[in-house]
Amino acid sequence: MRGGAQYMAAIDMVEVETNTSVLPDEFIAHRLGMIPLVSTNCDEAIRYQRDCTCLSSCQNCSIELSLNVACNDGRTMDITSDHLEFVRHGNWKEDAEDGEEIQKRTEDFGFPVGKNDPSVPPVLICKIRKGQEIRLRCIAKKGISKEHAKWSPCSAVSFEYDPHNRLRHTTYWYETDIKKEWPLSTNAEEEEAPRDDEPFDYNAKPNKFYFEVETDGSLGPQEVVQKGLAELQTKLANLILGLKTQPPDADGFSGGGDQLAAQTNGAATANTSWGAQPTGGWPGASGSGSTWGPAAGGATAAWSGSPGSAGGGTTAWGGATAAWGSPTGGAAGAGAGAGAAGGWSGTPQNPGWASPQPQSGGWNV
Ligand SMILES: [Zn+2]
Repeated sequence: MRGGAQYMAAIDMVEVETNTSVLPDEFIAHRLGMIPLVSTNCDEAIRYQRDCTCLSSCQNCSIELSLNVACNDGRTMDITSDHLEFVRHGNWKEDAEDGEEIQKRTEDFGFPVGKNDPSVPPVLICKIRKGQEIRLRCIAKKGISKEHAKWSPCSAVSFEYDPHNRLRHTTYWYETDIKKEWPLSTNAEEEEAPRDDEPFDYNAKPNKFYFEVETDGSLGPQEVVQKGLAELQTKLANLILGLKTQPPDADGFSGGGDQLAAQTNGAATANTSWGAQPTGGWPGASGSGSTWGPAAGGATAAWSGSPGSAGGGTTAWGGATAAWGSPTGGAAGAGAGAGAAGGWSGTPQNPGWASPQPQSGGWNV
């Protein structure tokens, strides 16, 4: 269920107009990014920004939310995800032409989960006192969890097999009472309990697995499982296709093989041995479509040209831009996880771990 099967919308850019709270802009931007947004049918309802024809963001590939809260009383006030307002028509849209994606959206698509529902507690963003205020604008974009955990709909996944312990997992180790130390779960009702005198089947193998999927509300667990299975099917089909296709060059891709082999990203190195690179880039690879790099969390990659959401974090920009130095263009993106700067020849080295890189439309890490 993890690893990039489900498309989701999450806040990716934050433009801070006013922030007089005790938390810095980046802190709040990160929290905003982690707020689950309703993402029903997200694979069809919103376009990837890198596939969009707009320059930075439009309503086909983005969702705008605003936050405008001030405290005027002598008390501590909670700013929560309920304060995030969905912006339907803003003048920020560069391309007002409606794509087919918009028709496929539900009424509450892009809303923070639980907004307008008193039974769902909102997500706390910040606390402010009298005289403090936060005013900002957020742009949510489509992504997958391989790019950044904020695009993962799953909050918990568990699985179990052999609820009755037919395979005798406790034979080599138990404290005092095997039965007591193997409490039966509700999944045990799905299978017939073995008789006490039943002979042990030495050749038995687990063949029935019980999965439990819990989401943060952005997608329902059913949709997560169904889309996950569909994605798995696609990947296997691509694998079969790749095995049937003769590699054009045994050394790897055009000149890029050495660089790719030098890094430790498993997904990247594995691909060198199998033939044609899919057009449009690997599904889920952050950055541009034609150039492909390691997934978020890997080493620094050379993103040619496209200042996509490399690294995938959420960054604040606006008032604090001067603090980050002079803009150098969207050349290197820092991975969200390890972020090690690799020896990529001919590209600027990443100045530091997850340092923000200025982009044409603002700040993006
Ligand atoms: Zn667009």
